[in-house]
Amino acid sequence: MAISVAACAIEPVPMSPQTAERLKSQAPIRFLLTFDDGPARPRTDNSTLSILDTLAHNPLQPGIKALFFVQTRSSGAGETEFGRNILRREVAEGHLLGFHSATPHHANHRFLKPEVFEQSLNDGIADIMAIQGSAPKLVRPPFWNYDKRTFVAYQQHGMHLLLTDLSANDGKIYGIKASLRRRSNMLHLLTDVRERIAAGELPTVDGSIPVVVSFHDVNSYTADHMAEYLQILIDCARAVQLPTAAQPFYDDKATLERAALARSVSDSAQSVRLPGLWNWLWE
Ligand SMILES: [Zn+2]
Repeated sequence: MAISVAACAIEPVPMSPQTAERLKSQAPIRFLLTFDDGPARPRTDNSTLSILDTLAHNPLQPGIKALFFVQTRSSGAGETEFGRNILRREVAEGHLLGFHSATPHHANHRFLKPEVFEQSLNDGIADIMAIQGSAPKLVRPPFWNYDKRTFVAYQQHGMHLLLTDLSANDGKIYGIKASLRRRSNMLHLLTDVRERIAAGELPTVDGSIPVVVSFHDVNSYTADHMAEYLQILIDCARAVQLPTAAQPFYDDKATLERAALARSVSDSAQSVRLPGLWNWLWE
């Protein structure tokens, strides 16, 4: 363990005395891992299954529970028995399912015909209900894109919208699978989060401050490097001098759901930060 810490050490990121003082009264952070776009399609070397293995067995914290924003009818994946079995395994292993899409492709909800959008919400909720035994309470819209109309529709279907604090920027939309700047990207994002925590902007839930992290489980690079990503998160927390909870990742579905709900967007007019260039694109 000492070796891996030494090998991964990141230079501490300095902070102002004011930030240091304000952080003293804040709870430790806890990483809330989320995965978008799954289940993955390949029948062999399936990246979603690989991620499930790593969450269950890794040197940092075995038995991590995560939130999967799933595509219940994606062509060749969620629509198949193979895909549904992956979703069943996620539930069986104590993970939480949220809604991402229930159309054959990764469609932008805003651009679907209203009746198609409405049908996809009903379908996705029914699909998740059938697998999880309860309806999804959380939604993450494809492309992080929503407006007042779609936001209200989510609410009417009992779903709360969750964005993210830290993004691995590993969505296929970026056209690259690997990120050579994984460590500096996470560090930069977590430094911003530190300021928001110091400013008292993030709620404490069950004794810790949930920090939402987003990945794409359909990305095989992400899957191959999942254990390393966990280490990067811990290293970055240390570098920005944010203490982590005794169990730095969520290990219980109910606690994870409370944390996610507390971090969800409460008003469609609320100004939000989207990962990458999305704020710029949607404005
Ligand atoms: Zn997506």
